[in-house]
Amino acid sequence: MLTLLDALPDGFLATPAPDLHRLLPGPTLIELRGRRAPALFVSVLLHGNEDSGLAAVQQVLREHAAHGLPRALTLLVGNVAAAREGLRRLDGQPDYNRIWPGTTAHAGTPEAAAMAQVHRRVVERGLFAAIDIHNNTGLNPHYAVVCRPQAQALHLARLFSRTVVWFRGLAGTQTASFAEFAPAVAVECGKAGHAANAEAAARFIGAALHLADFPAHGVNPHDVDLYHSLAVVRVREGVSFGYGAAQPPRQVSFDPQLDHMNFRELPAGTVFGTTRHPRPLDVRDEYGGDVTDACFDTGADGQLRLKRAAMPAMLSLDERVVRQDCLCYLMERVGADTPALHTALAHNA
Ligand SMILES: [Zn+2]
Repeated sequence: MLTLLDALPDGFLATPAPDLHRLLPGPTLIELRGRRAPALFVSVLLHGNEDSGLAAVQQVLREHAAHGLPRALTLLVGNVAAAREGLRRLDGQPDYNRIWPGTTAHAGTPEAAAMAQVHRRVVERGLFAAIDIHNNTGLNPHYAVVCRPQAQALHLARLFSRTVVWFRGLAGTQTASFAEFAPAVAVECGKAGHAANAEAAARFIGAALHLADFPAHGVNPHDVDLYHSLAVVRVREGVSFGYGAAQPPRQVSFDPQLDHMNFRELPAGTVFGTTRHPRPLDVRDEYGGDVTDACFDTGADGQLRLKRAAMPAMLSLDERVVRQDCLCYLMERVGADTPALHTALAHNA
């Protein structure tokens, strides 16, 4: 199902995400030459409704059309079919950011085979760094995600934002699959469809393409706000939910301004909403362990409360996104005195 190209198809630079299906039959890997090797790998539209990455690479390629790219660029255009419908993925499709090598849920699918082919080819040809570009739906700052707090990955992340989330990663994400081979980051560019968000992603891609080498020294702890992801929060399957009051009442009514809590350090006891269900959420640590009862409390008063201090990210008011992905991630700030970070920063791991 994968298409391989060594040049941009005619019209690519001016085609918006919903129309890409006219040029590309499905997921497509485009290998472009540049003055330096090995290539920078960039994936866009792994989620079909997240168009900032496509607009960003189009901008970067337009800017370099006359003089060529400073570094070879390997571009993966992901879920073209979902982009046509403006959806993260189509019903019946796996999530394109859960099908990379390491996936368990979607092993054996044609989509996983296609991404395994991409991964093999990109690694065999040599890889400078791997970037995956996303949007999200709530109010979030621009931030980068790394799977390991290694100096080179943090340097790469800093080219996008000083806000960096260290998250071991779900099985089958692009970033997790490349982290052992090269500096790898995913970037979250805020909401789709906003020119300023695409421009931020374009500046990032441009900076990564112009980087001759990664610095030999570590990242100054004062140059990065690093957060470690503690857990992913989902609404339990079969539990009805919404935002604000409704008739008939749902099992969970979240605060209608829930996404205002993103990237705010919340104290224990912060109310997320009201519930008539004894255990409406499912909270998993990054190893898949059930930590629901350590993180949330549904008291006798029906208030759904955070049980420990934490900082959420990716809280969304989009019910479909919450169903297809998650309600949010919970994080905590990592200080310069955190042993794992100290090691990474000092030794250029
Ligand atoms: Zn995404």
